[in-house]
Amino acid sequence: MPTRFRPYLCAVFALVFVAAPLSAAPAEVPRVVTTIKPVHSLTAAVMGELGAPRLLVDGAQSPHTYDMPPSDAYALERADVVVWVGPALETFLQRPLESLARNAHHVRLQDAPGVKLLRTRVSGTWASAHAGHAHGGADRGGDGHAAHGGAGTPVSGRGDSAIPSDRIDPHIWLDPANARAMVRAIADALAEADPAHAEHYRANAAKTRERIAALAKDIDERLAPVRDMPFVVFHDAYHYFERAFGLNAVGAITLNPQRQPSARRLHAIRSQIRDLDARCVFREPQFAPDLVATVLEGTPAREGVLDPLGAELDAGPEAYPTLMRRLAQSLRDCLGTS
Ligand SMILES: [Zn+2]
Repeated sequence: MPTRFRPYLCAVFALVFVAAPLSAAPAEVPRVVTTIKPVHSLTAAVMGELGAPRLLVDGAQSPHTYDMPPSDAYALERADVVVWVGPALETFLQRPLESLARNAHHVRLQDAPGVKLLRTRVSGTWASAHAGHAHGGADRGGDGHAAHGGAGTPVSGRGDSAIPSDRIDPHIWLDPANARAMVRAIADALAEADPAHAEHYRANAAKTRERIAALAKDIDERLAPVRDMPFVVFHDAYHYFERAFGLNAVGAITLNPQRQPSARRLHAIRSQIRDLDARCVFREPQFAPDLVATVLEGTPAREGVLDPLGAELDAGPEAYPTLMRRLAQSLRDCLGTS
């Protein structure tokens, strides 16, 4: 009697073992929505070959001025995991997260353990951090490279209420140490949403974190020759990058890219360029170049381009390292030649 059932049982087992990986696995990978390209890139690196997250703020758009199309609202409605920096950057997402993605797992990277936050600067002109060529040299730890002083005091994002949320500088990804902390937080969130692939996410995160550490070391070396050169940026997006690599930014044309700077503001920044002998003024692909041209007029400074978001880069795991390398290259190109 039992022998008669064996072929039947074998067939059942075969079905279970063959069918399960084919049908169940792809459906189990969570639908992930991300906001800006750098965050998308870090998330894509953690997901690896399991799937690609969706990107909301694409191309030449800026999170400061983004208008959400219905297709993105639909994606949010279906999302299992939403990864964003926080309300200071993606202000547009605050309400949709509550109304559309209420049940999704929200990853707010500004609160991720290990992310060090900086306060937004209140003035658009900054004292040269490099007067007397004194580098602070305080070791940030973790990245194998030292910070070189600069203005502002970093605080931990974890449970630290030292900075009111509307005073947090949201461009956190431009510090590689923060990017590494963000990668860990993304992997933890994905592992929680999708425990079956937890090992996969954590292994990818470990690889990505190592890669970012090597990238930071490389950029640090490449920027060494131009560290002391004063420059002006379009909007105050680079404080984290400046601190991480000890650069000498002396001002921003605008503190809030949603508003036109006043005539007084433009006058102040032009004086700053002359007084501190700024070599370059950097425009951004997300914003019209005429303001930068106005500021440059009649000064010996040159025009460069810095892109904190990677407007022209293909979205994906390579976007983040490429974006960081290009920032370094643009700074070198403009500040380095005499
Ligand atoms: Zn910005």
